[in-house]
Amino acid sequence: MKLHNQILLGLILGAVFGVSAHVFARDAAWLGFVNDNVANPVGQIFLRMLLMTVIPLVFASISLGVAGLGDLRKVGRVGGKTIAYFLLSTVIAATIGMLLVNVVRPGGGMDPSLRELLLETYRSQAVGLQAAGDRTFGVNTFVNIVPRNPVQAAASMDMLAVIFFALMFGTALTLIPKERARPMISVLEALGDVVIKIIDFAMKLAPYGVFGLIFFTTSRFGWEVLRQLGMYVAVVLVGLLIHATVSLSAMVRILGGLNPVVFWKKARDSAITAFSTSSSNATLPTNIAVAERELGIPPQIAGFVLPLGATMNMNGTALYEGVTVLFLAQVFGLGLSLPQQVIVVVLSVLMAVGAAGVPGGSLPLIMVVLSTVGVPPESIAIILGVDRILDMCRTTLNVTGDLTAAVYVARAEGGWRPEMATAAQPEPTAAS
Ligand code: ASP
Repeated sequence: MKLHNQILLGLILGAVFGVSAHVFARDAAWLGFVNDNVANPVGQIFLRMLLMTVIPLVFASISLGVAGLGDLRKVGRVGGKTIAYFLLSTVIAATIGMLLVNVVRPGGGMDPSLRELLLETYRSQAVGLQAAGDRTFGVNTFVNIVPRNPVQAAASMDMLAVIFFALMFGTALTLIPKERARPMISVLEALGDVVIKIIDFAMKLAPYGVFGLIFFTTSRFGWEVLRQLGMYVAVVLVGLLIHATVSLSAMVRILGGLNPVVFWKKARDSAITAFSTSSSNATLPTNIAVAERELGIPPQIAGFVLPLGATMNMNGTALYEGVTVLFLAQVFGLGLSLPQQVIVVVLSVLMAVGAAGVPGGSLPLIMVVLSTVGVPPESIAIILGVDRILDMCRTTLNVTGDLTAAVYVARAEGGWRPEMATAAQPEPTAAS
């Protein structure tokens, strides 16, 4: 069986067994044992195999991407197009969410006793989040992108700082004499190849890892809360679906010239990895492999656009943030005026840029948006019970959104043509 299908099977079986275990054996001791000693460890090993490649991969691919693009003006142009695309697709996503939540009004009729119950149940988690997210948006947000110490930035997985250092490194490489730069470029190329091999090892584990992660999540998930917040969850999911099938697909077709059906088929491994890990960072290695091998995107474009996208481009998160803020405002009977809603869209986009690509990375930032528009930030407790399932879905869109950006930039800049995606032959190690 192809690795693709094995991973898909892992996902489906993990969900079926996990939900069944939840229904039939929620409180059984054996389920806790299996989760603690089998499902979670296997999932975590897969996740860590991917995560341990992220820093060397980002460093190698961004510096090589910049060095490969050659002159600085080209780097600036590619960077400009990349960021313009990120902003456009994120604004569209957030707007879709806002329109839906205004039409459906999922928070309008929430029973106050349910509201209090949810607030009470998840209050302590919300307080922890607030402590974690106690940063304000201001000039220091930008100053902090420049690391004092790149090794420390790497050690704390501060992705924007690592990206900044890699950008500087790649740029400097193009400015020193060619014969001096060449050995460094060879080292970086070899580093990139080695890391891709490690990702291949990790992907061999993927069917089991995905099974473990999904089983662990679904068997412990509070499905009852899902029913209570059904309308809210439905609005987020429908919004994500509309963005994927309508706006992103249209952008792939119009800006990338690629048939969206082909695109979504090729993006499958990225989607499944994102869904099961809920982390853009952890999915970055797979995403780069998918872009190069499945879509035939040139490495200097994939290596430049996708690491930036993993931290800066979060379509799903922006949509989710907008919906959540408005939903919570509705729950508290606070009508937000049109200008306030525009502020929510703008902040959602900014916060999606700032959110870390880790599970629940956007939650502390949502609290900042909530307090800006006068909704009590602790009210995030109301939705925490369903967050994981929504995180899985929004991360899937975050990551596939990055791939659509790579398609667009590759076509606009990299000499890539849509036929190259159809013709791309995945390497046997990754896909078979
Ligand atoms: N989990 C998301 C990601 O990694 C971030 C978030 O929305 O919480 O892309």
